[in-house]
Amino acid sequence: KVKSILIDKANEQYTAKLSLIDKTSIPKMGIEVDVLYSTLNYKDGLAITGLSPVVRAFPMVPGIDLVGRITKTTSAEFNQGQLVLLNGFGVGEKYFGGLCQTASLKSDWLIPLPTNLSPKQAMQIGTAGYTAMLSIIALEKQGINKDSGEIIVTGANGGVGSFAIYLLNKLGYSITAATGRVDQTDYLKALGAAHVIAREELSKPAKPLQKERFAAAIDAVGSHTLANVCASLNYGGVVTACGLAQGMDFPGSVAPFILRGISLIGIDSVMRPKADRIEAWQRLANLVDAEQLDKISTEITLDQVIESARQLMAGKIRGRVVVNCQS
Ligand code: NAP
Repeated sequence: KVKSILIDKANEQYTAKLSLIDKTSIPKMGIEVDVLYSTLNYKDGLAITGLSPVVRAFPMVPGIDLVGRITKTTSAEFNQGQLVLLNGFGVGEKYFGGLCQTASLKSDWLIPLPTNLSPKQAMQIGTAGYTAMLSIIALEKQGINKDSGEIIVTGANGGVGSFAIYLLNKLGYSITAATGRVDQTDYLKALGAAHVIAREELSKPAKPLQKERFAAAIDAVGSHTLANVCASLNYGGVVTACGLAQGMDFPGSVAPFILRGISLIGIDSVMRPKADRIEAWQRLANLVDAEQLDKISTEITLDQVIESARQLMAGKIRGRVVVNCQS
């Protein structure tokens, strides 16, 4: 038997518990791994608390991210003993995920762990950091660089937001962080934000065209925040949208698109092709440093996952949570 978080739904009763499950109850996908580290993302928080219907099959092992060591493989692409990395592909939603001591995975879902990252470091980055990197690459593809002007990052204290600030600062950008937790200004400035503004400046309905303030934006919040970010972009500005922490709606106007030529780029990390994953992870491996990763994240064990997921959903967690699945 192996230790796992297990979500179930029976007689309309939704439960998420630390459990001991039979290895044989994990559906076989071709590659067996010992999970070394997993993480707690916003989506895992939703799955574990049941606040949103992200789990599509029951019972389910949550955990959309993992680093594992291969113990058995039917694929020629990977070897026994190799360290592999997985983010998304419906794992932890449709397929058993990373919050367990072992997992069974498809080779199509896996990339090799970059050699200059440890398993823990990769999970300190996790889907949040990988999505922040995909967002930055998307801005670069639209011609944004450190000389374009100020960049705003919303949901700044969250996983994606913290990483976006950290990585943009490493790349030499000047960053404004928008947060509901202005008491965390010192943390955000230590990560690399030059300016910190209150979330409320952006989260309420406002004019469709506002003062031009930002060359680009990384938004993890959606709703009025995204609409107001669009309305505040400079002429030709670019915003990436990856999240919905404020809401799924987009109560915006076409005005900034047709009068200022702004662009809105959607970011999906889940079904991203392998080549993009490898590029983003190699960029991450070359950019991050161990000391900062420790500052951005907290390590917990599987036993602490349920309580941490509740705290995450209550907005009480800063930065990233990594889960040591073997202790
Ligand atoms: P997280 O760690 O929970 O961070 C979300 C942050 O959003 C919070 O820390 C908070 O930052 C801010 N926030 C929360 N509620 C808000 C509200 N009502 N209004 C405005 N801001 C609010 O989550 P995450 O892992 O960074 O993910 C962020 C979002 O991106 C989520 O919606 C997640 O589902 C999405 N996501 C999408 C992809 C993709 O592939 N598209 C990948 C990863 C994540 P402050 O306290 O600083 O205000």
